[in-house]
Amino acid sequence: MSPMSPMSPRRRLMHRRAYPFAAQTNVGRVRALNEDSILALPPLHAVADGLGGHQAGEIASAVAIDALREAAPRDPDATGLAQAVQAANRAVLDAVAQGIGREGMGTTMTACMIEQGRAVLAQVGDSRAYLLRNRQLTQITEDHSVVGALVRSGHITVEEARVHERRSVITRALGTDPELAVDSFEISVLRGDRLLLCSDGLTAMVDDAHIAEILLANVDPTRAAERLIDAANTAGGADNISVIVIDVTEEQGAQARLHNHHRNRLWLYAALWIVAAILVCAGIWVGVQRYAERQAYLRVDSAGHIYICRGVPGKVLGKTLTFETIETSVTAEMLTSTDLTNLRLSPTYDSVDDARGALDEMVAVSPMLNNNETVPEQPVP
Ligand code: MN
Repeated sequence: MSPMSPMSPRRRLMHRRAYPFAAQTNVGRVRALNEDSILALPPLHAVADGLGGHQAGEIASAVAIDALREAAPRDPDATGLAQAVQAANRAVLDAVAQGIGREGMGTTMTACMIEQGRAVLAQVGDSRAYLLRNRQLTQITEDHSVVGALVRSGHITVEEARVHERRSVITRALGTDPELAVDSFEISVLRGDRLLLCSDGLTAMVDDAHIAEILLANVDPTRAAERLIDAANTAGGADNISVIVIDVTEEQGAQARLHNHHRNRLWLYAALWIVAAILVCAGIWVGVQRYAERQAYLRVDSAGHIYICRGVPGKVLGKTLTFETIETSVTAEMLTSTDLTNLRLSPTYDSVDDARGALDEMVAVSPMLNNNETVPEQPVP
């Protein structure tokens, strides 16, 4: 099979945006060899802590990680990931059968696929996954260990378990049973969440409160991973230490849906505002028309005919606001030149009656009707 077959993990990586992460493994200060293996191939991440000593533990964890990578589903899927861990279990058993490594070798496996607001996890052994959310650190996997069972049954405390002499005795591991039970589950992740996968080389040396402190104090995932390893080594570094820190930063998945929801709401608000603005404009327009309908003005045309118009002179927004034009029997010659000049300016009145009254007054002082009382005016040049 070609190394770049369509199903190769590298190809799977190409179209995806991964959450920022850091993955580090360290031999510690006591062991000669690092038997942990880690995988960081977004969206797939895993920590495997090999058991069985030299030429066993490191092989078991490496074989399991390789098989997991090959068998992992394309997209986060709890059942698919659990099946991949089972495939990794068979790979470890097969390796022993083929004389690779040693009889009795085994490994833990904490695997996580995280993408678009979803994280699926598969768990065997005592490596752990933690979720840091709202500054609270929560272990989300269960330890398959003797002390883990004792803690769950209430016989010892978490603190007692951490220093218990049988703390490293695990009750489930890859490489021991072909019918391996794998814990698997899915959680939703939110922007700002931080996931930590780690081997017991961290958790046996550093308590949860201190782990939380370090994760909170170091925003950069690489720095956080380094500080966690430093803390385990400062506390003695009795075992190999592996940490993977994944930050949920992008607006993916649930967050993206939430974001879209907000964006839809914004459109709704914008639409409501536009409708409101249209209604206000329409209201103003109706108000203007109602007002104009009651108004009146006088107009004289080029032939000297005089009209009473209902409305207001001129145009508003390209629309005339004259609703009615009433021709009168009054003509320009019947009026004084002063009144005629005023008339040419289209004087406005509060009603048609007012306009008619004003015109009657002009006629009443007309030189044509009142020759005896009024001095004829000079013609306008
Ligand atoms: Mn270990």
